[in-house]
Amino acid sequence: MCESQHDISLKQHSGRRLLPTVAHNLLREVEQIFHQHGDLTDDALLALHSLFGSPFEKALELLEKNCIAYFRAPGGRYVIQVIGSSGVPYTLFPRVNYCPCHAYRFQVVGSQTFLTCKHVLAARLAEIVDKGRDISVTNVELSRILCAAGNLDKTASSLLN
Ligand SMILES: [Zn+2]
Repeated sequence: MCESQHDISLKQHSGRRLLPTVAHNLLREVEQIFHQHGDLTDDALLALHSLFGSPFEKALELLEKNCIAYFRAPGGRYVIQVIGSSGVPYTLFPRVNYCPCHAYRFQVVGSQTFLTCKHVLAARLAEIVDKGRDISVTNVELSRILCAAGNLDKTASSLLN
């Protein structure tokens, strides 16, 4: 059964979850479209919406509000921070389908209504359309951001201000 296979693949890799292949491929296609046209075409937007649903609409809102920042340390290591609609910063790893938000926990892992949450999608879309803010940090600061994210501490958000 296709459905049960899908369930199994979603539940594996809980440590470093990846987007299902279909989503990954669509995002790569959208990336190419953006490079060719300098914008997202209507077809690309429709395809994204039909695959990701309402989190896609909300991700676009986050993009428009410039809620995405990249904390880049020497050596190319970086994390992405997305400020949610309530002002809470969510720290995400590049290309990893995991977010500590409630929607991810309940609608992605729990009910599996959506493939991912608006924050993960906003982070990926920001990379595609080159829209996030770059913030240079030291390796120590990057570690601090990760610790803060791990402790659900909000001190890392002060680096954004
Ligand atoms: Zn999220």
